[in-house]
Amino acid sequence: MIYARRRRACTIMLGRTNKLEVTAVLGLMQSQGLMISSILTHAARHHASGEVVSRTHENTTHRYTWRDVEARSRRLVRVLQKLGIGSADRVGTLAWNGYRHLEVYYAAPGMEAICHTINPRLHPDDIAYIINHAQDKVLFVDSSFASLITAIAPKIAGSVKTVVMLTDPANMPEVTLAPGMTLVCYDQLMETVDDDYAWPTFDENTASALCYTSGTTGKPKGVLYSHRSTWVHAFATALPDVLDIRASSRVLPVVPMFHVNAWGMPYAAALTGASMVLPGRHLDGASMADLLNKERVTFTAGVPTVWLGLLQHLRSSGQRLETVQRIMTGGSAAPPLLIEAFRDEYGVAVAHGWGMTELSPVGTYNAPKPAQAKLTKDQAAEHMLKQGRILPGIDMKIVDGEGKELPWDGVAFGDLMVRGPWIASAYYGDQPGSAVDKDGWFATGDVATIDPDGFMEITDRSKDVIKSGGEWISSITLENIAVSHPDVAEAAVIAATHPKWDERPLLLVVPRPGHTVDPASVLALYEGKVAKWWLPDEVVVVPELPHTATGKLLKTSLRTRYKDHYLKV
Ligand code: AMP
Repeated sequence: MIYARRRRACTIMLGRTNKLEVTAVLGLMQSQGLMISSILTHAARHHASGEVVSRTHENTTHRYTWRDVEARSRRLVRVLQKLGIGSADRVGTLAWNGYRHLEVYYAAPGMEAICHTINPRLHPDDIAYIINHAQDKVLFVDSSFASLITAIAPKIAGSVKTVVMLTDPANMPEVTLAPGMTLVCYDQLMETVDDDYAWPTFDENTASALCYTSGTTGKPKGVLYSHRSTWVHAFATALPDVLDIRASSRVLPVVPMFHVNAWGMPYAAALTGASMVLPGRHLDGASMADLLNKERVTFTAGVPTVWLGLLQHLRSSGQRLETVQRIMTGGSAAPPLLIEAFRDEYGVAVAHGWGMTELSPVGTYNAPKPAQAKLTKDQAAEHMLKQGRILPGIDMKIVDGEGKELPWDGVAFGDLMVRGPWIASAYYGDQPGSAVDKDGWFATGDVATIDPDGFMEITDRSKDVIKSGGEWISSITLENIAVSHPDVAEAAVIAATHPKWDERPLLLVVPRPGHTVDPASVLALYEGKVAKWWLPDEVVVVPELPHTATGKLLKTSLRTRYKDHYLKV
């Protein structure tokens, strides 16, 4: 007898008249929901001695194990219950990467509530907006954000009832809250409860975490992850051709837990039993080198700015990286210098990845296929500028202005679309499905090429691409060439309005400390590398460039300032 709880009948037409009735049969496998708590219980049971090391605010080192994280997270659920948190309530965090923050990461979704990570680098008005939009009931806050919380307290008093400072009683900071809000100390609260709690199971599609995008225009929008999306993302990112995290790895996410889930590493590390080092707030080159060596880190991940700071420190101090084998860079395009300098001077591979908040966040990773084995050293470094291959489980394509799919020839560039089980279908509060087209594709807002081997390369944000005489020019390509100049620290290429060509590229460069930039020598670098008509019409030397709260170039403000540059000359 065929046993199936649900059957789907369908009719297949055979020729003109014959019909064949087919009944789909469900598999007879157990269907346990993919619970985030089960990632943690796996780590506690099978990797009990895997370490979680945190550099604290007080610059001390806190160490414990995955077994402790699991027990402490259960204890934290008891605290959350005491604070009135229940199913689907939003639990906000304003915190650096540290063990207490990790406990909130697991406790909130584990009890069927939602962990809402908030980016403290945003403007205070945006932070207040996000907290109110999410209706966070409780906020877990690092003591370095005491004055921020004091400043926004009157604006968030309508939703937030309790502020928990992530510290011990001896280090409680001065905080003034609005009437009706209560201030408490994390360690003290944890003392008042036991850890007698059994993780519940529920629908794996239940919301688990919330993170707002920090777009450069408009209000921030919330991306609401589920237990299932988090699990499958963790599975895919841990693969050998992606983060390659194993029980023997020691991983250090520099990328913040307050934005894009630290690229999912708090979950992937527990899933694989890897030890994890959480760096706190000191991310300068010297602090990073010290921590990476002291904690014998093998793999680390973060944005290019952090790696440029680390490189500068290593070069000036003569310090070496003793155990790091691989650095993942993403969040913005990796400058070529970064890849070559770490490889040639320090024997460390830099690998490029791409993603976004809406993708949980990892979408692609640049791991070689057999064809790449034939590349010369220089070709390999150039190939690493590509953002990489799509992770299995999700899909991508590039399309033109009419939505027609473009070829994978590494030349044609168009709007990058993605779809899959860890990609947002709508923003928080919006209609389900409202962020995707009828076939489920999500428009990333990035412009990219895809080569015949499936390696994707971002050429621009769609808002930043330069449209010169109807043809597109990639600002990222031009920026990468500019930063290979020995006197240039940072570069931005923007579209400036042009009387004849509509738009033309304008290059803005920041000199390296103690250097002066000769514009002609920067322009000379482009010779033979790009078509002549791609060349920036002018180079403007500026003392600094504006950045968003997540460290990306704030091109909107540059465009406002320089858009009429060619009209004035
Ligand atoms: P966010 O959601 O804040 O992480 O921002 C996502 C956006 O960052 C993407 O849509 C890209 O525009 C940009 N981005 C992320 N990774 C890369 C990368 N490796 N190279 C270039 N841009 C990137």
